[in-house]
Amino acid sequence: MLYTTLGKTGFEVSRICFGTLTIGPMQKNYSVAQGVEILKKAAEKGINFFDSAEIYETYPYLNKLLKEIKTPVIIASKSYAYTFKGMMASIEKARREIGRDYIDIFLMHEQESPLTIKGHYPAWEALLTARGMGIVKAIGVSTHHVQGVSAAKELAGIDVIHPIINYRGLGIVDGTAEDMLQEIKNAKAQGIGIYAMKALGGGNLSGNYLEALQYVFAIKELDAVALGMQNPLEINANCMVLNRIQIPEKLHVKLLKHDKRLHIEPWCKGCAKCAERCSQGALALNVLGELKVKHEKCILCGYCSAVCTDFCIKVF
Ligand code: SF4
Ligand code: SF4
Repeated sequence: MLYTTLGKTGFEVSRICFGTLTIGPMQKNYSVAQGVEILKKAAEKGINFFDSAEIYETYPYLNKLLKEIKTPVIIASKSYAYTFKGMMASIEKARREIGRDYIDIFLMHEQESPLTIKGHYPAWEALLTARGMGIVKAIGVSTHHVQGVSAAKELAGIDVIHPIINYRGLGIVDGTAEDMLQEIKNAKAQGIGIYAMKALGGGNLSGNYLEALQYVFAIKELDAVALGMQNPLEINANCMVLNRIQIPEKLHVKLLKHDKRLHIEPWCKGCAKCAERCSQGALALNVLGELKVKHEKCILCGYCSAVCTDFCIKVF
């Protein structure tokens, strides 16, 4: 495993960060015991950096992981809270459910622009307060927007940005991969730690995983890259690409069979709440009122499934 220092945080993180969305209820829905086995395999490979979010519901997996391994673990999480009280409650929930006095990195989830950040500023003040109290060690912003990175880097006290980037620019709402890369470089030049997400476009680039991973691993401004993994094969392959080891043909064939897609269950009632939630324009009702997925636009972020109270949206 290769390690880097995450900006000025002082954290020595593995260049591969384990994105836990994929093992939790929003995607693979492993039992806690099954999920922890996958996380332990990653830890055995030297991965010490794990990304979660309040919405992912993966804190129980991390709680068990911390009990079962002795090596240091750095945990990042995030919340949509936009008030001071709401963000403090999110941090308390993370501390309680992960079973740690402090969370290493806590982010404002999915910020879009200077306006969103301004509107959510009380939550940022809560993060500043929490860091002052020592219950959070580093703070930042996650974003799918070029403008989100641009605005976040101007936030007083910011330590970390978690932006989307992949070679096709999939999921970047307001620009191209080149635009995003330029903003990442600008933020990095200020000493901000950067760990990327959606290198595989939420699964849409799985068929070109080698090219997609080589692209992000070659970006020197990215301290780490969060990758959602669901089995030891994916963990091994990602580590091999990072270490520039050729993937054996058998493994390559198996990986290509693991393409994931969004599925809509037949009991969907067509209320369109999920379509309103999707910032990628990947969901829409057809003339018959049936929900359809535009797979070429879907980045498998899972945010739509979180608003469906009928549990109609699955990723497999
Ligand atoms: S929120 Fe659920 S029920 Fe409503 S359209 Fe979406 S999938 Fe169907
Ligand atoms: S359809 Fe759902 S999973 Fe796909 S990009 Fe939209 S919100 Fe994310």
